[in-house]
Amino acid sequence: MSRQDGSDRMMTHDAAVELVAAYALDVIEVSERGAFEAHLAVCVACQREVAACRAVTVAIGTSTEPMEPPAALRARTLAAATAQPQRPHATAPAPPPAAAPVSRTHWGWLAAAASIVLAIATMMYASSLRFDLSQARAQLSSTSSQISRLRDELADARMAAARLINTVNIMGAPDMIKVGLRGQADAVTARGNVYLSASRGVMFQTEGMPVLPAGKVYQLWLIPKGQTPVSGGVFTVDASGSVSLSMQMPAGMPMPAVVAVTMEDGPTGVVQSQNQPVMVGTAGQ
Ligand SMILES: [Zn+2]
Repeated sequence: MSRQDGSDRMMTHDAAVELVAAYALDVIEVSERGAFEAHLAVCVACQREVAACRAVTVAIGTSTEPMEPPAALRARTLAAATAQPQRPHATAPAPPPAAAPVSRTHWGWLAAAASIVLAIATMMYASSLRFDLSQARAQLSSTSSQISRLRDELADARMAAARLINTVNIMGAPDMIKVGLRGQADAVTARGNVYLSASRGVMFQTEGMPVLPAGKVYQLWLIPKGQTPVSGGVFTVDASGSVSLSMQMPAGMPMPAVVAVTMEDGPTGVVQSQNQPVMVGTAGQ
């Protein structure tokens, strides 16, 4: 059985075991091949190792992708394969079924090492993905809050622009009438102006009005000469007693001669007020 061709000296079993992996992967050094094969021919244990190695090789798909491993990788792989030979591995993952008969050999360890390397690489990749994802999420969250803020600012700007356009329209209307409002007994600091246009609507501004008690609202009254007051709607004021609003002229009503503001029960006000006006003004004065 032994093949002795003169140039190859017989190899010890321990030396041969270290070359089993390289031989099975077909990356054994040319200078070592003869001596290894000579030992292999007479050593059943090494024959079984080689068979097991090839089974693992098939299992991890190397046989379908023949390649020359980089020298450094090969050295590392061999080092891992031979680092702890013959040691039972209680914590290592189970080897592939094909390698089961020799699972306690260093090939079992190589398979275990390969799967650990793969697991670590997978974890590192997943971890980098998670990091990217959390960065992307943070970016997205910051971007959407910026968008939300811009949207609010745009909405505010649109409302301000709409109010301004409305104001300019009403104040520039050919039929515009301005009514100056004066605060009455309980609201001497209150001032206001109402701009009325039958075609373009009503613009109303106040300042210095008393802050409303809870549950109360102010109600605007448009009063044509000699007629019943018509509600122009209810409103509240800010902490400085100011408000600025515009509305349509109630349909079909004649131009008011008097404008008044009363304080009423909220939130909808009343149809006919029984209260003294907080502010009042007359057109043309
Ligand atoms: Zn041997």
